[in-house]
Amino acid sequence: MERISWHQYFMAQSHLLALRSTCERLMVGATIVRDKRIIAGGYNGSVSGSVHCIDEGCYVIDGHCVRTVHAEMNALLQCAKFGAPTEGAEIYVTHFPCLNCCKAIIQSGIKTVYYAADYKNHPYAIELFEEANVKVEKVELDHHTIELIPTVK
Ligand SMILES: [Zn+2]
Ligand SMILES: [Zn+2]
Repeated sequence: MERISWHQYFMAQSHLLALRSTCERLMVGATIVRDKRIIAGGYNGSVSGSVHCIDEGCYVIDGHCVRTVHAEMNALLQCAKFGAPTEGAEIYVTHFPCLNCCKAIIQSGIKTVYYAADYKNHPYAIELFEEANVKVEKVELDHHTIELIPTVK
């Protein structure tokens, strides 16, 4: 049996985290990696202890659900909460990050963004990533990995 690559492993982890999302508008997962080690993970969810979109419905303002903290933010805040440096780290996300997450990723010192699916890729986010020398690369799960983990698409 051929073992899966690091890229596939970390991206699969993000897909798994996405299944924990509590907002049905978009199920997103994010994994922060440093030196081939997972230092944090996050998914789209409400503030700790608050109600979930899946139970109470989304709280939509101007077409956006404001109830949830985005997966990337949750992963970054987990690093802040437990004191894990993000300088020079990498992030694996299931979807191209929104503008706010893009800015937070840059500001945290993360140098590489791997994403599985294009999602309203904002031109300004692309510009900011380029300006900050943050490498952005699409990494999709390959057939081999999907075969090994039948529940992850
Ligand atoms: Zn929601
Ligand atoms: Zn976001």
